Amino acid sequence: MSHKILILPGDGIGPEIVAEAVKVLEHLRDRRGLQVELEHALVGGAAVDATGTPLPEETLALARAADAVLLGAVGGPRWEGLERERRPERGLLGLRSALGLFANLRPALLYPQLAQASTLKAEVVAGLDLMIVRELTGGIYFGRPRGIRTLENGEREGFNTLVYRESEIERIGRVAFETARRRHHRLCSVDKANVLECSELWREVMTRLGEAYPDVELSHMYVDNATMQLVRAPKQFDVMVTTNMFGDILSDCAAMLTGSIGMLPSASLNAEGRGMYEPIHGSAPDIAGRGIANPLATILSVAMLLRHSLGRPDLAGAVEQAVARVLDRGLRTPDIATAGTRQVGTAEMGDAVVAALDEFEHTDTGGRT
Ligand code: NAD
Repeated sequence: MSHKILILPGDGIGPEIVAEAVKVLEHLRDRRGLQVELEHALVGGAAVDATGTPLPEETLALARAADAVLLGAVGGPRWEGLERERRPERGLLGLRSALGLFANLRPALLYPQLAQASTLKAEVVAGLDLMIVRELTGGIYFGRPRGIRTLENGEREGFNTLVYRESEIERIGRVAFETARRRHHRLCSVDKANVLECSELWREVMTRLGEAYPDVELSHMYVDNATMQLVRAPKQFDVMVTTNMFGDILSDCAAMLTGSIGMLPSASLNAEGRGMYEPIHGSAPDIAGRGIANPLATILSVAMLLRHSLGRPDLAGAVEQAVARVLDRGLRTPDIATAGTRQVGTAEMGDAVVAALDEFEHTDTGGRT
């Protein structure tokens, strides 16, 4: 059966980095027998320019029919003045809600070759490999009522609602436990159960769910402590699961432990395991069009796509190994370059990954890791 993958390059460096990820997919299709059909569509500012809206109907229909979506990045100064509904980010939010992408998986993995890139001491972060599972479609970002109202005395008051149903907690919990099962069998659930009733329920549901996963060691941590621990001793974590807002903050903090924004992929999954895959960084307008953007986060997003939506952990592992091999050889885009390494551009980095995949194929048939 052939899998449909929708490619959405987006804006800024999006088309440049996505082109390299497509080279990897085409290589796997042509040389490894991966059955994929690649379709392309517009999203974000590029879609606003062409059609007047950041998420055209045609793009949405293709996304709904696809097994997976690969996205570059959206946005840029050109579209910042537009009214809210036509801003590029609305395209992303629209895709997330239309596809029901409730589970956001963000690995923070520091390749030993890049330990110097972190602002933390190399010994604290070298070998870091953690996964944050963030609930993406509920919690305080979506809860109602919300708004800004004027009180009787004329003072204004802003308010939002933090709300999670048991079923919402359970479904993100399952994704997290399953993820821990595929990794090192440790899951830390992050909440604020000492203050928030919603968190109390979160903890209760996670604990109950844990009984069905006796092979996963479940722990709980308050979000303030978790933040401190992430910076103090991040290697203690394997998988962390948390709410939308806590996850928003913790995942950016975890990403920065690695020091290289151009290296980190992400996946957003729905209940059927279909998903949208994208680098965690934005459209980097400051370097767009110069051929120097790091394509590795997008290429590693392809690895996540292969693992989570196409059921091909073997090929995912092969892509990840190819990236490691290229770093071993000292190839670096400017954002991760250090003394003694060889600077390359976006396309050369993509070509090097494809070449490493090719070698891998000849030295380790099947590319299993
Ligand atoms: P950014 O992530 O685009 O850039 C931050 C810094 O990191 C910049 O200096 C940039 O050059 C660098 N950088 C980012 N990706 C890189 C890569 N692959 N290789 C080398 N360097 C890289 O964040 P920003 O500057 O705050 O935002 C720029 C635009 O992107 C804004 O319009 C913002 O709204 C949008 N944005 C989009 C997404 C998304 O599409 N998911 C996420 C964040 C920001």
